[in-house]
Amino acid sequence: MIANPVPWPNGARCAVAFTFDMDADSILHLAHHTSADTRLAAMSMLRYGPEIAVPRLVELYQRFGMHQTFFLPAWCMERYPAAVEVILQGGHEIAHHGYLHEHPNELPSEEGLYWLQRGIDVFVTMTGERPRGFRAPTYKFSRHTLTHLVNEGFVYDASLMGDDVPYLLENATGQVVELPSHYALDDWPHFMASRDFNYFMSIKAPRQAMEVYAAEFDAMWEYGGLWIAVWHPFLSGRLARCVAIAELMEYMHKKGQVWFARLDEIAAYVQQLAQAGTWTPRVDRLPYYPGPIPELGEAEPTLAR
Ligand SMILES: [Zn+2]
Repeated sequence: MIANPVPWPNGARCAVAFTFDMDADSILHLAHHTSADTRLAAMSMLRYGPEIAVPRLVELYQRFGMHQTFFLPAWCMERYPAAVEVILQGGHEIAHHGYLHEHPNELPSEEGLYWLQRGIDVFVTMTGERPRGFRAPTYKFSRHTLTHLVNEGFVYDASLMGDDVPYLLENATGQVVELPSHYALDDWPHFMASRDFNYFMSIKAPRQAMEVYAAEFDAMWEYGGLWIAVWHPFLSGRLARCVAIAELMEYMHKKGQVWFARLDEIAAYVQQLAQAGTWTPRVDRLPYYPGPIPELGEAEPTLAR
């Protein structure tokens, strides 16, 4: 089912990474520049992430002896230094998720680079090292993102959805490892309900979401894939959902032969395999298109109306 499965370490059937994007209230300020400060209920829902959920999740990881990756907009690191400390003390990785959750593909190249570098500066100041990984906020990876990542020394990206296993993103500037996921493993479609974001999914039992996540896991386990959850502390870190997550972790651990790892460890492992010639990752050459396809331009009068 997977054409080129990865020889995961120690005979593991698949790799698993629970990644949490700690967006906190950055997304509210971005969505409502001039009125975010007046939306206190939404603010409280989002602040639940760094204040309540992150320490709970770190405790959960500790219970299972797991080290995982958190993606933080750098502005959130500055606003919530205690959460940064808890994450680092737990032995987890913090990776780059924009400065204020800005969308790279809606910005000119130089502006995207400005926010990326401003975020890197925060990492250096607060963690003592540059980030190794990046996830574009809201998956909005731009046609310039790869070039900026290569120039800034990033090892991996985790914004795209092009495979079941790691692959390489390449352009004239260089390469990074892509660690893909999918909306089925994102918690917004399962849990997000907020008037302030005009986003309302029906409220359902946490176990219904876990059923989807578990089905994705079972398939990855069967065929040698990579399972990456794209979750948010303010959504999946709520109490009943965390109870269900603990059950899912229990299930995965019992099934066995799973490599639980931080994304920087998975990226380093992929690079090591590629260098040794043990496994050859697929390469995606970017950009997919230099601009809008010409056929559509020709057909616009009839097709685009
Ligand atoms: Zn985000």
